[in-house]
Amino acid sequence: MDSRFAALFEPLRIGPVIAPNRFYQVPHCTGMGHALPHTLAALRATKAEGGWGVVCTEYCSIHPSSDDHPYPFASVWDDGDVANLAAIAEAVHRHGALAGIELWHGGSYVANLATRAPSLGVRSMPSREDPIQSQRMDRADIRRLKDWHRAAARRARAADFDIVYVYPTHGYLLSEFLSRSLNDRRDEYGGSLENRARLLRELLEETRDAVGDRCAVAVRFSADGHGEAHLNLEEAQTLLAALGPLADLWDLVIGDYEEEMGSSRFVAEGALESRVRAARALTGRPVVSVGRFTSPDAMLHQLRSGVVDLVGAARPSIADPFLPCKIRDGRIDEIRECIGCNVCYAHDARGAAIRCTQNPTIGEEWRRGWHPERVPPGRGSVLIVGAGPAGLEAAQVLGRRGFEVSLADRDGSPGGRVSRESRLPGLAAWARVRDHRVGQIGRMANVATYYGSALDAATIRDFAADHVLIATGARWRRDGTGRWHSRPIELAAQRVYTPDDVMDGVRPAGRVAVFDDDHYYMGPVIALALAAAGASVHYVTTAGRAGDWSSHTAEQRRTQRAMLEAGIEILVSTAVAGFDGQTLRTECVFTGRDAAWGADALVLVTSREPSDGLYAELAGSGGESQESRVLRIGDCRQPSIIAAAVYSAHAVARELGVGAERPAARERVLIGP
Ligand code: ADP
Ligand code: SF4
Repeated sequence: MDSRFAALFEPLRIGPVIAPNRFYQVPHCTGMGHALPHTLAALRATKAEGGWGVVCTEYCSIHPSSDDHPYPFASVWDDGDVANLAAIAEAVHRHGALAGIELWHGGSYVANLATRAPSLGVRSMPSREDPIQSQRMDRADIRRLKDWHRAAARRARAADFDIVYVYPTHGYLLSEFLSRSLNDRRDEYGGSLENRARLLRELLEETRDAVGDRCAVAVRFSADGHGEAHLNLEEAQTLLAALGPLADLWDLVIGDYEEEMGSSRFVAEGALESRVRAARALTGRPVVSVGRFTSPDAMLHQLRSGVVDLVGAARPSIADPFLPCKIRDGRIDEIRECIGCNVCYAHDARGAAIRCTQNPTIGEEWRRGWHPERVPPGRGSVLIVGAGPAGLEAAQVLGRRGFEVSLADRDGSPGGRVSRESRLPGLAAWARVRDHRVGQIGRMANVATYYGSALDAATIRDFAADHVLIATGARWRRDGTGRWHSRPIELAAQRVYTPDDVMDGVRPAGRVAVFDDDHYYMGPVIALALAAAGASVHYVTTAGRAGDWSSHTAEQRRTQRAMLEAGIEILVSTAVAGFDGQTLRTECVFTGRDAAWGADALVLVTSREPSDGLYAELAGSGGESQESRVLRIGDCRQPSIIAAAVYSAHAVARELGVGAERPAARERVLIGP
């Protein structure tokens, strides 16, 4: 154990239970919820094995009137749920960690699309995104809610959880009650702050009664309230002081969810610190909070300077489930640091199981038997062409497996697209994808790197490696083809650029149109880079808003705000139809109505073309199979997000020479006798 960090490994009493150390995996979504209990148990167990002293579930519905479909939520509705949750708690306990469960009622926010039960609200209000309003809760409903919560707490105890949460934030039912503007009740649950907090107080007291002295009671609470209209800072602080002793642990968040789980593009590490510090002084109880911390020094500072008692993490524990063990064992340079891209969160929002740019094994612990720290041994020689995220990940895995690895890249330095993209505005942290892997393979005597080496098919054949992995990436298309245009559009030979040109340092000046048919970060980021260089930028997108897909990564609002603040004109639901070097032609995606605009340059952010020529030449007409000597990985196989390139490389590298350890398991209900 590295004695500098001993304080992070001191046990801490939380009510009736004792956390073995200060590493606390706060409740976080996994895209699995109640539907994938085996998958989830293996994921949570891996965190506990990696040294997290407390491992919590995601939001866990107490009753069918709180159903967040299609977003994957956990549930503790009945004995079946108890059995599945017990498997999770048991898996966590096996590694000496405590298991926490976040009891949750969604209130008006949810639409109950699966259960079709009426949603319940402090008053009747529209749900988050469906044309469905909640039922105003009468006294009988409040009584029933309390019964459900009590029963859920008992079930949580029966499933052997150690920490049971009450959850009055993030816009769900209990926050509705706390809100001055939403809570219009005239009874003892509305009006004064004391009345608005009555339900929370009762649930805290009743949860304690329900779990007895077996479990700790935690509360997830916003340190700075929910905004002036709902629960202002003073009111939040009054409640922290008044209710402080009713919980054994305060899990502090902040009112702005998009800041709380902000991406590295917009929110720095440790952004909650001052607000959490002020709140902790009021509770008189242990406090946990998050900050996307990956450095042990930053974690230690949080403890030492009295910000928190336990260092909370969701994303850093996803990017590296073994982060605590690595600190304990003095292997700090092995930590796979979260890059703050929010791809993990995005896939929950898409109803899919979690994935991570940095950690390809997350979510695959049960399905594919992947362990983040262990790979099967292997033998032989491998030549990897391309040292982008895919090539680097493959080199790292194959190096760990014992192969003789040669990694070549045309560029003089490694990183491929992450090196290029991390130079764009806001994306600096993405270089961690490169740096972690370069650091790891730098220590492997069996991995040789050849940067500044453009390889052709003849050289690769002459190299005579047992296996060849082609990881040559993809290039942005220069012809307008993408989602909207299935064929190239009419374009001038000059003054038409791609993101690759901008990443190469080209900065078109004057009136520059950026056509975004990709809808993620690249279009807005290119627009911002050009605006920063002095261009007058018109951003044209076929979507309804700027960087539309980044709503899934909780970045869309900040993206559009940053663009507007940078003076970028945003034209939505519009496609670029052509550009002759002077005049830009656009068409409305609904009416087809066209318009002409004066422009000096056009940047096309539409789609990418795999750079697979080398692969095609080497693989010949035979195509690829697991047995082929030549395989393609990453963007050269399928242009996608960086997480997909890393995953594709990991899968091929892990299975090279041995095939899959077993077929990927499917978790589903089977009709049986
Ligand atoms: P991925 O995301 O799949 O890793 P990247 O585009 O980030 O893809 O990386 C591809 C890398 O391959 C780039 O660094 C590029 O320089 C390199 N590359 C492409 N063609 C060759 C080649 N013929 N020889 C060596 N390196 C190449
Ligand atoms: Fe961090 Fe991105 Fe991984 Fe999420 S997906 S844990 S934000 S690196």
